[in-house]
Amino acid sequence: MLPFIDLAAQRAALGPRMEEAILAVVRHGAYVMGPEVGQLEEELAAFCGAKHVVSCGSGTDALALILMAKGVKPGDAVLCPSFTFAATAEVICWLGAAPVFVDVREDTFNLDIDSIEAGLVTAREQGLRPVGVIPVDLFGQPADYAPIEAVCAREGLWLLADAAQSFGAHYQGRKVGTIGDATATSFFPAKPLGCYGDGGAIFTDDSELDAVLRSLRNHGQGADKYEYARIGMNGRLDTIQAAVLIEKLRVFADEIAARDRIAARYAAGLSDCAVVPQVMADARSVWAQYTLRLPGFDRSAFQASLRDAGVPTAIYYPRPLHRQDAYARYPSAGNGLPVTDRLAQEVVSLPMHPYLDEADQDHVIATARAALGA
Ligand SMILES: *Cc1c(COP(=O)(O)O)cnc(C)c1O
Repeated sequence: MLPFIDLAAQRAALGPRMEEAILAVVRHGAYVMGPEVGQLEEELAAFCGAKHVVSCGSGTDALALILMAKGVKPGDAVLCPSFTFAATAEVICWLGAAPVFVDVREDTFNLDIDSIEAGLVTAREQGLRPVGVIPVDLFGQPADYAPIEAVCAREGLWLLADAAQSFGAHYQGRKVGTIGDATATSFFPAKPLGCYGDGGAIFTDDSELDAVLRSLRNHGQGADKYEYARIGMNGRLDTIQAAVLIEKLRVFADEIAARDRIAARYAAGLSDCAVVPQVMADARSVWAQYTLRLPGFDRSAFQASLRDAGVPTAIYYPRPLHRQDAYARYPSAGNGLPVTDRLAQEVVSLPMHPYLDEADQDHVIATARAALGA
C-alpha cells in the first residue's frame, strides 16, 4: 500500500540534521520555552511577513487563545463552516458562544459569501450577537477573503483565519498569516508543515493582541511570574517541537513547489473523468489534501478499487458538523447547508505529499481512471 502521507520519506530527505536538532534540546535541557521557541517564531514571521507570531501547543489552542483574547462569551455568535474539522467550532462552544454554521462553495470548498449574509440574519433571529467569522482554508487553499473582509468591516466583526491546513499559501498577493485580525495554524504531523507531535501558532499584526496572547498562553501571567492579569491556560509549544519545525521550515518552500507539481499532474490526468479541485485566480494552495468530487459515482466502490490496487484514499469530511449529535443544537445559516451536505457525499482525497514520485503519481492516476471507467 502506498502511504497516504509519507513522513518517513521526508525524514530520510532531511538526513541527520533533524536528529541532531532534537538531541541538542535534550542536551541543553530547556524543554519548556527554550531558545528554539523564540527562534522559530522569528523564522515563521519572516516566512509569511506577519509582525507577530505566538507559537502554542496545537492548532486547537491557537484558535481558542484568539477567541479568549477577543473576549468571546455566552450570547455571542461566531460564523464558521460546517464542512471542516471539529476544532474550528469546538473552541467557540468552549467559551459558551454559539457557532452559526455557514455553507461553502462547491468549487473551492470554502465559505460562501451569500451564506455568511444569511448566517448573520439567522444569528440575530435567534437572539444571538454576531461577533466574528472564522473562515477555514480547506485542503490548503485560502478562503475568498476580500468579500468576507468587507462584511466584517461593515458589521464590526473580527476575522480569524483557520489556516490549520494552509500555512505557506497565498491570496491576492498576501501570504497566509497576514490576512484578518489573526490567523491560527497547526503543526499536527499530517499538516503541510508538521512537527513530531502537537503544535500550533498564531499570526497577527496587532501588537496589543500579541501581548494578550503571550500572557494567555502562559496561564494569564502578568508582569511577574506568579502574578496573573487574566485567566489563561498552558498553551506553550514544546522546545523539541520548535527544533523539529526549524529544520522542516528549511525545506518547506521546496515541498510546497513539489506538492504543486503533483497537483498539476493529477489534474492533467484526471480532469476529464472526475471533478478536480479548482484554485482561484490569484491564489495558491499548499495542497494539504488533493480532493476530487465524484458526483453520480459510487464512492465506496471507487475507494475499494483503489485500495485493491494499493492506493489509499480518505474522506474529509464524511459527516459535516451540523449533522453531528454534539453540534446539532447550534444554528445553520438560512435554509440549511445544501452544498455542504452534497460535498460530504461526493468528496474523496488521494495520496498527497511532496515525496510522491512520478511513478507513484502515475499509478494513482491510472488506478483512479480505471475505477471511474475512463
Ligand atoms: C487540524 C485542524 C485543526 C486543529 O489543529 P490541531 O493542531 O490538531 O489541534 C483546526 N482546524 C482545521 C481546519 C484543521 O484541519
